Amino acid sequence: MPAYKTVTINPVLPNRPRASVLVIYTGGTLGMVFEKGQLVPFDFEQILDRLPEIKRLDFEITFTSLEEIMDSSNMRPDVWEEIARLIQRHYELYDSFVILHGTDTMAYTASALSFMLQNLGKPVILTGAQLPIGVARTDARENIITALEIAAAQIDDRPLVPEVCIYFQNVLLRGNRAKKKESSQFNAFRSENYPPLAEVGVTIEYNFPFIITPNADLEFRIKPQLEQNVAILKLFPGITQNVVRSILEINGLRGIVLETFGAGNAPTLPWFLHELKEATERDIVIMNVSQCDGGRVMQGRYQTSTWFDKIGVVSGGDITTEAAVTKMMWVLQQETDVERIRERLAMPLAGEMSMF
Ligand code: ASP
Repeated sequence: MPAYKTVTINPVLPNRPRASVLVIYTGGTLGMVFEKGQLVPFDFEQILDRLPEIKRLDFEITFTSLEEIMDSSNMRPDVWEEIARLIQRHYELYDSFVILHGTDTMAYTASALSFMLQNLGKPVILTGAQLPIGVARTDARENIITALEIAAAQIDDRPLVPEVCIYFQNVLLRGNRAKKKESSQFNAFRSENYPPLAEVGVTIEYNFPFIITPNADLEFRIKPQLEQNVAILKLFPGITQNVVRSILEINGLRGIVLETFGAGNAPTLPWFLHELKEATERDIVIMNVSQCDGGRVMQGRYQTSTWFDKIGVVSGGDITTEAAVTKMMWVLQQETDVERIRERLAMPLAGEMSMF
């Protein structure tokens, strides 16, 4: 594990801060500032110059950064593992965690962490920005300050949001329910199938019935390994047998997230049925996820999905593709028995899908 450089800011010294937050900087647009006319990654030693508002917070904030600062389009499972290990190493030292991350793959990282961090009892809040912190109109300041406020919020010494979330432009979303929906407006993230955990205006309104209550008897631990031999197969009218077969025949493939139409429908062409059946017989696990962002897969509602149940395709219900693919990577690493893998994929593990 590399030695991480840290900067701690305690605005209430010499008084005791009411909470402590560890901020982990991973990269993304947010952390860019202008230097000699160019946008370059922000050095956290200058945090107070860039974000003087921090001095008005009444809790302690420690900044650290991954060794490799990246555009989140380069995000990888080994970096998710590094983040999970960093949280584990500091779990007892801090009340909560904020992860500064590029927006492009933030929903994947949030989903992966929601499975890796087991029995989480503290907030882990991802945020980022559409404009760099060094730009006058940046959305980074509000996103960071509010993510910090939410991370530090407690009642009776207990955190208000003890789960992996994304905070972005006035909404706090469950991380494994969120999707990046917008690449130019500031409201980049939405969650179609689960209500926001908080909405932010003049006050922060928490949606308590929808926030996970952790089981305090279970000890926090991490299970960070993932199986990368998975693929996403998106259907479209006109998809050919060649394309489907070449994906299903990828050497070493263990699982497929099948993006289907509407409520989980797919062509009833004999060749398509044959390819999928043949793949499940080779123990490739297939999870049916809808291309629609809202609503859910209902296998068997239409004739075009009835046969999925018969060949052992798992219904993804109202899961997002981001959560489905990371869940599949995670479950395939935990289990070897195919029936058991299918069972675990079909049930919610971290609030990522609804039970119907
Ligand atoms: N490409 C950037 C990233 O995801 C975009 C952003 O940060 O918003 O790292």
